[in-house]
Amino acid sequence: MAKRGFFLISFFTCCAIFTACAVQESKSEVPIPENKVPTATLIKVETSPTPQPADKVLTHKPELSVTLSQAIQVFEPISPLEGILPEELKQIVSNPFLMPTEGQDDGHHGTDFSFYSFGKFSSIDNLGVVSIFPGKVSAVISDRPPYGNAVIIETNLKNLSDDYLSLLDSLDLDETIRHKSNLNCPDYSQEILEFSKTEESLYVLYAHLKNEPQLELSAQVDQGQVIGNVGNTGMSGNSHLHLEMRIGPTNATFPQMAHYDNSVTTLEMANYCLWRVSNYFKLFDPMRFFDISQTKP
Ligand SMILES: [Zn+2]
Repeated sequence: MAKRGFFLISFFTCCAIFTACAVQESKSEVPIPENKVPTATLIKVETSPTPQPADKVLTHKPELSVTLSQAIQVFEPISPLEGILPEELKQIVSNPFLMPTEGQDDGHHGTDFSFYSFGKFSSIDNLGVVSIFPGKVSAVISDRPPYGNAVIIETNLKNLSDDYLSLLDSLDLDETIRHKSNLNCPDYSQEILEFSKTEESLYVLYAHLKNEPQLELSAQVDQGQVIGNVGNTGMSGNSHLHLEMRIGPTNATFPQMAHYDNSVTTLEMANYCLWRVSNYFKLFDPMRFFDISQTKP
């Protein structure tokens, strides 16, 4: 499970379905959940380059129908802030996302939400922070730089609705893994090579929370579950929520993560580098998820 006590990641014992494997081989495509595989893709995957006897083709069809009949619940994102609607989020962006230079820790890797007065609220401080999707806790960070108190929650892409999978596909995220950065990083190249990319998940980070997160690593979280309160911990100048989204291999966990402080351990730093600059966890603007929810009828 642990790779040299470094970066915890579980491998899928095999390619869960041949469609997922096939998709992985084509660059930059988000894996398609088995219950969402378009008919066209199924035909493409099932059709062998050499003609197959009719009975061989037929033997595959029942397996496909079984796969397609497995119901997987899909979700659309909700607002990460209690009492603030998704369509209101753009009004309280205090620092927008700014894509970093390739492999560097510059730019702004997320969206900051803050206000002094909004609607019935006189301050964002202590406002409840909720999980925008159901998922699994991948990181519990207790007052470490730069994120302060923070939580990362993983949601398998198969649990996202078609609209959001299409959106992710349209972003055409850069797939290049980076081993070098201006950021001071321990060598993580070997760990990256060992990762499985059979399936991918959405990872959402909620940072600068007021209190130490009361969640266990790998615990299941419901959509809308309160995971903390807006605070001002870590490298933060005022109470705000830093929301960050990435697409990465499933079942990754970061038991520790930190940087920018003399107290950080090699392990914390390596995990920070993997998260921030390796591009194994592909970054995108979280507001894209809330734009789409506003334009839908
Ligand atoms: Zn931020």
